[in-house]
Amino acid sequence: MAAELAEGIGTAAYSFADVVRSIVVVEPDPDELPGAHLIDTISACEQVIRAAEAIQAQHAGMLLAEREPLMEGRHAFLSAAGETALARGMSPSAGITQLETAITLSRLPAVQAAWVDGLVSGVTVRAIVKNLPSLDHASMALFEAELEPHLPGLTPRAAAELTRSLTLEIDPDEADRKALAAREDQYVFVADEADGVATLIAHGPAELIHQIADPLLASARRAKNDPGDQRSRGQVMFQTLHASAVAGPNPELETMRTLELAVVISAEHLLGAGDTPAELVGHGPVAPVVLDQLIDEADRVFYRRLVTDPVDGRLLHTDPRRRLFTGALARHVRYRDKRCQGPSCDAAIAEIDHVREFQHGGPTTAENAEGLCVTTHTMKSIPGWAVSHDGATWTTPTGHTYPSPPPPDVVRRRRE
Ligand SMILES: [Zn+2]
Repeated sequence: MAAELAEGIGTAAYSFADVVRSIVVVEPDPDELPGAHLIDTISACEQVIRAAEAIQAQHAGMLLAEREPLMEGRHAFLSAAGETALARGMSPSAGITQLETAITLSRLPAVQAAWVDGLVSGVTVRAIVKNLPSLDHASMALFEAELEPHLPGLTPRAAAELTRSLTLEIDPDEADRKALAAREDQYVFVADEADGVATLIAHGPAELIHQIADPLLASARRAKNDPGDQRSRGQVMFQTLHASAVAGPNPELETMRTLELAVVISAEHLLGAGDTPAELVGHGPVAPVVLDQLIDEADRVFYRRLVTDPVDGRLLHTDPRRRLFTGALARHVRYRDKRCQGPSCDAAIAEIDHVREFQHGGPTTAENAEGLCVTTHTMKSIPGWAVSHDGATWTTPTGHTYPSPPPPDVVRRRRE
């Protein structure tokens, strides 16, 4: 069948679009809500894209395996990467990244299977591979076994954080080496664009990047409160960055390095903090070796203790009876949820929302709270959208439902 299709495609009789359409297009059903068939078609297209990308990666790996016995290793790699890139119409360096992903993926059969089955996107798979240190066979198998149950619907950012925290426990030394190497990977990238515009990208240790970004955010906040300032948030931030880079930093800006650490403590170990894992606030898990470095270099260090359930590692709640999520409760929900709780959303939490609305009797407790980004929060309040009382299921105007996975555990088991 595949061979017949391949032969027919490209002739006048068939086109790829016809073949794909015959697989994905769903006809309208009068019993379903308007637009439901359009969403079903869009969803089927996504499955085809994911499966095709996964098969593509598998075949790039197979090409490399065929070429390796024929020539020296580095040549075999570059040859296969270059030819794959040409076939995909991408640059050779993009082909190299693609082939490196394929090689790592060949050691992760469950991730590969989840990709082919459409349970994860290519972006999520690449996030896992990018954050994976080089592990030996046993550690790799252990990592994949721990990762596998989380795979369905895993977002790219959650995949990156989960990969980092799991490998920190499974092979702390290798994770430390990768973490230190990652912090050495620093660059500034300038891309010229049309219309006399260019983009500047800086990559480096998170706390240093935030040291650059925080004053820009502060000036944007000041401008927002100034009725005479009509500039957009982006304009204020860019102009502040330009001024400080060209004319030198604003002497009024604070130069102290302040570090805020969230130290996770199990409720049964409240008194002995020992070797409990720490998280850099807003950045997720951090390798202990990096943490030591940060503490040494900081002028001030703040610790926030997060108390977790000894059984399942989830953050324990606090429950003041208030209408708004503020103070300790808001902070608790931000730490617990980490990212927007909308299905498939990875954005930063902007607002803490009542899952069951306050005016409908929803209490202001951690259990009835979820962190949402601005877009998801707005979407949720549009007519036709609904969220189940436990926050676990979202229903859209076409009647489709999407699971909203619970936030990942704060503390995970260590390797015995
Ligand atoms: Zn969101």
